[in-house]
Amino acid sequence: MQNFPGMASWLEINKSNLLSNVKLFRSYQSVSPQFSSLGVVLKGNAYGHGLLSVLECVHSLVDIVFVISPEDAKFVRDYESKRKLPKLRVVVLGAITVSEAAELAELEIEAVVAGCEWKDFGADLAKQKLVKKLKLHIHIDSGLCREGFLPDSLETDLQFLKDLSATCEIVGALSHFANTEDVTEQEYAAEQVNRFELGLKKLEALLGGKRLERHIAASAATLLLPQARLDSVRVGISLYGLWPSKETRLSAKIVLPELPKLKPVLSWRCESQVVKWLPQGSFVGYGCTYRCAQRTRVAVLPVGYFDGYPRSLSSKAHVLINGERCPLLGRVMMNHLVVDVTKLPGDFEKITATLLGEDGKDAISAETLADWAQTINYEIVARIPIHLKRVLI
Ligand SMILES: *Cc1c(COP(=O)(O)O)cnc(C)c1O
Repeated sequence: MQNFPGMASWLEINKSNLLSNVKLFRSYQSVSPQFSSLGVVLKGNAYGHGLLSVLECVHSLVDIVFVISPEDAKFVRDYESKRKLPKLRVVVLGAITVSEAAELAELEIEAVVAGCEWKDFGADLAKQKLVKKLKLHIHIDSGLCREGFLPDSLETDLQFLKDLSATCEIVGALSHFANTEDVTEQEYAAEQVNRFELGLKKLEALLGGKRLERHIAASAATLLLPQARLDSVRVGISLYGLWPSKETRLSAKIVLPELPKLKPVLSWRCESQVVKWLPQGSFVGYGCTYRCAQRTRVAVLPVGYFDGYPRSLSSKAHVLINGERCPLLGRVMMNHLVVDVTKLPGDFEKITATLLGEDGKDAISAETLADWAQTINYEIVARIPIHLKRVLI
């Protein structure tokens, strides 16, 4: 294990695991002939893994990157121009303003039309005298009831597309599943696919029969529903080696000939700040919620809820030190944790703790942390803040 002394805590991004996950999703192209573009989702600072680190690993290996904001899309273009790399397809999934739309067109970044707020974009964009047309994907709401146009009223709702024709080119249509990762039986997903197809038919007719690029599958559907891979996929959580849910993994075990090998990419470690012995009867941490039943050796770790370590893990979690589980004592504080290291042999002043990831023969997964904190692995990783150092290993 590498150490990064002087850093409060750091995240290790395992490049070979990330590449192995990319390879897994690539391999589906040989069994799904329509599936031509591998898209990966880098929103939420690449699910907390660090946009730059992940970009460095996957830029040359994927066909599309999906981001949430124009800022992140521009970050990708900056990254490319600094390194003289070819422009990858970049799609902004989130909301944009008219002036951002003009900027994105210039940078050849694609955007998503998610609702009627685009009604006035046509007239406003015409004033901006774009040199390049902005490429757009139309979001069809097939049942998540978040972004998108409902198939039933799509023709009327999208009448404004004709005002966009001078400045924009409609290139794709997308939708997003509501519960593929929550169930082991996918009736609702099948219904969503039908509604997406209905919406697509109407949309393509509205555009004079133009065939659009179609994409609906996030990780769970890409893994479990080959018929949903369509032209492109948008793989988020599983790019990072995590299962979308226990149900998805269970379904995969049941319905797939063999369980895909997703390899977790992230480890989170820190060096202790203080190691010391406390006398029997000592109270540990805010609220004095833990009292030492005997003389206890503790390590104070420079990590807290400011760093994305959930406070709800207080008195519940453990960390790994030299492969041994060391329990958290008392509460998670803003910048500190206290762990019990009494059982560790020998004399030492500093230790390296693993908060998430493998250490020796043991591991703490994002799922384990999520279970302890009563949330999902997505939230655990996405909430790891930007200020922590990411290192590619
Ligand atoms: C977040 C998101 C994805 C990726 O979902 P995962 O479950 O992380 O794979 C795909 N598409 C859209 C529209 C999203 O918002």
